Amino acid sequence: MSVAVRFAPSPTGLLHVGNVRLALVNWLLARKAGGNFLLRLDDTDEERSKPEYAEGIERDLTWLGLTWDRFARESDRYGRYDEVAAALKASGRLYPCYETPEELNLKRASLVSQGRPPIYDRAALRLGDADRARLEAEGRKPHWRFKLEHTPVEWTDLVRGPVHFEGSALSDPVLIREDGRPLYTLTSVVDDADLAITHVIRGEDHVANTAVQIQIFEAVGGAVPVFAHLPLLTDATGQGLSKRLGSLSVASLREEEGIEPMALASLLAKLGTSDAIEPRLTLDELVAEFDIAKVSRATPKFDPEELLRLNARILHLLPFERVAGELAALGLDDADAAFWEAVRPNLSRVAEARDWWAVTHAPVAPAADDPAFLAEAAALLPEEPWDLSTWGTWTGAVKAKTGRKGKDLFLPLRRALTGRDHGPELKNLLPLIGRTRAQKRLAGETA
Ligand code: GLU
Repeated sequence: MSVAVRFAPSPTGLLHVGNVRLALVNWLLARKAGGNFLLRLDDTDEERSKPEYAEGIERDLTWLGLTWDRFARESDRYGRYDEVAAALKASGRLYPCYETPEELNLKRASLVSQGRPPIYDRAALRLGDADRARLEAEGRKPHWRFKLEHTPVEWTDLVRGPVHFEGSALSDPVLIREDGRPLYTLTSVVDDADLAITHVIRGEDHVANTAVQIQIFEAVGGAVPVFAHLPLLTDATGQGLSKRLGSLSVASLREEEGIEPMALASLLAKLGTSDAIEPRLTLDELVAEFDIAKVSRATPKFDPEELLRLNARILHLLPFERVAGELAALGLDDADAAFWEAVRPNLSRVAEARDWWAVTHAPVAPAADDPAFLAEAAALLPEEPWDLSTWGTWTGAVKAKTGRKGKDLFLPLRRALTGRDHGPELKNLLPLIGRTRAQKRLAGETA
């Protein structure tokens, strides 16, 4: 049996780190097993689904490198859902209900006040043909509930282990709305069955849905997949990450925070697992290390600071070819491997390379506050061509001539050459600055 998984976001908002972690775990499982990854848009909520969110989902997954083998959109499949619903109605598993939302709220409140669980009382099952005709004559339209079997529902969850629900402890779920539109609880099962999904990996907020959906799989004659429910990410204080938390959207991490795709993937593949979080430069490494059995039941905390630290560690390892496009997009078209290797140890984000580009390629007003010493140093600048040994040769000569050493020797040179007290190694920067600029800066000129 070949493994088939799906990532099934609703295009009703931006993907945030919690959603994309589920996409990644599904993708890793598929790639590890040589299986198939389906991207399915759960877009039957037509009021809230938006094409720009669907495009955003595809953009975010593509940016992370999570390519999909198959694509489906639930709004293309209404005919199929109608067909399944008709069969369930014919077999008596879907039954019409006429309660208004207000009536249902009253029923729930009354059960809760008696200390009983708010389970639907199946009053609609006791209606006769005449009752239904009367209600419909009043203008009421039915919504349709799935009649659960009052038997135990059990599965072995790949993360939670054995899970047990009593059918009698669950409310018969509404599968078809009053306007005839099918709801997620049904559409998801029909798709998973039709598209031969073998593993459903999703958030633990769906555990109770799974109990219900297993019965629906059985009722529609679909093979019940294996389930894994991952604990949802929380922030540092243990609060859930809401989809509306714009700052944790994948789009803002990419466009505003300057996060590299492999930084996000390296963190999300390991968060909440028994593996240490380490920078990885390719998804292939994460595939090799992936095992769903490493996912723990404990609630993982997502810390944006940890992501930024990992981003820095990734940048310190990334070769020039991997960032050339990003550097060009920053306007640094002439940046080359020498520049990248000089500055990357000082970066947390690629965009910070602009500051160092300005130091090596644009006029700098130097802090030339030791002019006599700097003039002596300038006189000792070697002739070009310069390379990575030039700094050592030159400062050796300056040290011999002036008797200075350590900070007294290096800090005035750094401040004159870069206008700053800190930065990348001057051994690497000096050849990029070049002799003409260096000489002027040592003379206190803006150059
Ligand atoms: N559209 C559902 C969600 O975003 C999918 C859940 C599932 O994976 O079945 O929660």
